Amino acid sequence: MKPYPSSSGGLSRAQHDHRRGAGRHHGRAAHRRPRGGPGQRRCGHGRARARRRPSRAVVFRNVRPFGAKTPVDLTVVDGRITDRRAPADGEVIDGAGRIALPSLVDAHIHPDKTTWGDPWVTREPASGIADYVEQDVELFRSRRRPVAERAYGLMAHAVSRGTRAMRAHADVAPAYDLAGVEGVGAARKRLRHALDVQIVAFPQHGVVRTPGTAELLEEAARTGAVDMIGGIDPIGFDEALDEQLDLVFGIADRHGVGLDIHLHDRGEKGLTELRGIIDRTRALSLRGKITLSHVFCLPGLTDRELGTVAADLGDLGISLTTVAPSASLVLPIARLREHGVRVGLGSDGVRDAWSPFGNADMLHRAHLLGWVTDVRLDEELADCYRVAAHGGADVMGLAHADLEPGSPADFVLVRGECLPQVVVDMPQRDMVVHGGRIVARDGEPTG
Ligand SMILES: [Zn+2]
Repeated sequence: MKPYPSSSGGLSRAQHDHRRGAGRHHGRAAHRRPRGGPGQRRCGHGRARARRRPSRAVVFRNVRPFGAKTPVDLTVVDGRITDRRAPADGEVIDGAGRIALPSLVDAHIHPDKTTWGDPWVTREPASGIADYVEQDVELFRSRRRPVAERAYGLMAHAVSRGTRAMRAHADVAPAYDLAGVEGVGAARKRLRHALDVQIVAFPQHGVVRTPGTAELLEEAARTGAVDMIGGIDPIGFDEALDEQLDLVFGIADRHGVGLDIHLHDRGEKGLTELRGIIDRTRALSLRGKITLSHVFCLPGLTDRELGTVAADLGDLGISLTTVAPSASLVLPIARLREHGVRVGLGSDGVRDAWSPFGNADMLHRAHLLGWVTDVRLDEELADCYRVAAHGGADVMGLAHADLEPGSPADFVLVRGECLPQVVVDMPQRDMVVHGGRIVARDGEPTG
């Protein structure tokens, strides 16, 4: 064991290159981008970093980055991994030979809808978005605990499972006014030491079919309560393709926020929506500010059709997210990456009116991605982890927490043999570190 990391942060060149294979690498400056990028504002973590504090050094001794055979020491100064020698008076924490892995990024989750921490909910049959939406409202009205508490419980749990950042969709509709956005915002504030959160004002009830929604979206964007505005199936649900897209693109353009649009529509409907989004992104110069979630029309395309669409998405910096719901609906991540398309992985709803499933555990989601895509090889399993860690960071405009010098000291320590085995076995997260500080131990937030 070395007394301090070598110039490559204690990692071999082979490991270094291995990790660099994961999609596009954002510059370190991503954390310091000015307001206006998708969701960079109101990022609690960034604010904390901006305040000057005395230099703080911590050495995490005897850890194995990415499952390396030989343990090393990871040195953290002021929240970032460094290859410099640790100051003699720095704090030392023994990792006891555990594997160190990048913390995870949940690129798509709905903390406002969750019943996390509540007694079990028995769900009624539903078919179609309108049914689910009705049950959302019934569930919301039946909750004794406000959104802020339920969302906090779920988000703190996510931290304890190794999540460093999340993009949180919060329903915005006259039925709730801005209660969802405000509740998630309050939870974000309580967790700013541990979690970077972008909030999307999500028009789950439709923009055009539910009068009053567009005004609420505008208010959420104007007041800075959210980082992004959402949209939903402009044809299949709102039945107003141009009207919905013009409304949400107009709000994004006026207020300098990003867009993250749910697209469940398949076939020609989904493709028509995609074309409408691509055209508006280009026309309004909103390059790099648009994300599309689910995009169930993509997996059904021929390889040639997919190549054409992916080229446009890559060219315009339109990011995608998938929750790996099934073999037929998971996005073709590798093909999309070939065109420079950033793809993040997410939890989606967690124990809400839509589904009894979900746990906000992104290691479990990486495991599910491997399961639905039927992977076998070590490199494929490791890549599922990289999508869960770096894919979402790319979508959210965050630096990779890749344990390299200069990267954010956001990592998890687990007991195990190697990364592929960790993806399969999903061991307990013994320690979660955010900005060099321990934010969870033995599966529990440290408060
Ligand atoms: Zn969603």
